[in-house]
Amino acid sequence: MATLAILSALLDEQRGLLEELAHPRKVKRAGRTFWCGQWHGHEVVLALTKVGKVAAATTTTAVIEAFQAQRVVFTGVAGGLSAGVKVGDVVVAREFIHHDLDSSPLFARYEIPLYGRASLPCDEGLTALLLEAAHVGLAGVGDHFHHDKLLMAPRVHAGLIASGDQFVSSAEVAVRMMCDMQTFGFAPLAVEMEGAAVAQVCRDYDVPFAALRTISDRADATAHVDFSAFVQKVASPYAFAVLSQFVQMLPKL
Ligand code: SAH
Repeated sequence: MATLAILSALLDEQRGLLEELAHPRKVKRAGRTFWCGQWHGHEVVLALTKVGKVAAATTTTAVIEAFQAQRVVFTGVAGGLSAGVKVGDVVVAREFIHHDLDSSPLFARYEIPLYGRASLPCDEGLTALLLEAAHVGLAGVGDHFHHDKLLMAPRVHAGLIASGDQFVSSAEVAVRMMCDMQTFGFAPLAVEMEGAAVAQVCRDYDVPFAALRTISDRADATAHVDFSAFVQKVASPYAFAVLSQFVQMLPKL
């Protein structure tokens, strides 16, 4: 049966998933721990990418080469860039861009050299399923966090996410980054540190990929405040709610 890889950057983003695995088996490889098992009748491998694009590429390559992952899904947190993307919202990626890639004047800004393109589209079918799972899984989840600052059910967005090896914690940097990308026709909803790398590796191997990020901050000077608490209290239960829907809806290959 086809294996689904479920990746996250941080341990807190993965919380709850491991307990769901039937017959969990731990495998150490490339300085990482991989957990294999079954969830809702699917073969699943769970792994942490660690933080940043190279670390994410290593983990993605390993799940494909060593664990024969035939589909990859990523859940984690990100900083909101676009005005309407607020803390507690959820963004499903339609495509990724490396915001820190600039080989100009040899190649156009943001273009991945020798790929002939800047944006890395996610798999349409898997993304549509993840979007549906986000709507179903998060319906009513807002009430669950009523005691917190987040009173509303999360809004679900879909669009471009920008990745780079930088934790964006200044409004000035975030605005400049957005303006630069807009100049080249890209309008990112959120910024994080792994997605484009995972998307690029999956594209190289022709493995379908989809990703979901809960907005933990607005990529400004308060970005680091309560980061861990947010991941534990909000992002991780959101990811769990969406993923359990997603695997139940996922067709068996
Ligand atoms: N505080 C954590 C490290 C977090 S790094 C620790 O000590 O372990 C930030 C992680 O969240 C990355 O995986 C990145 O993808 C995502 N992220 C959230 N907000 C971000 C922002 N404003 N800029 C870049 N990445 C962000």
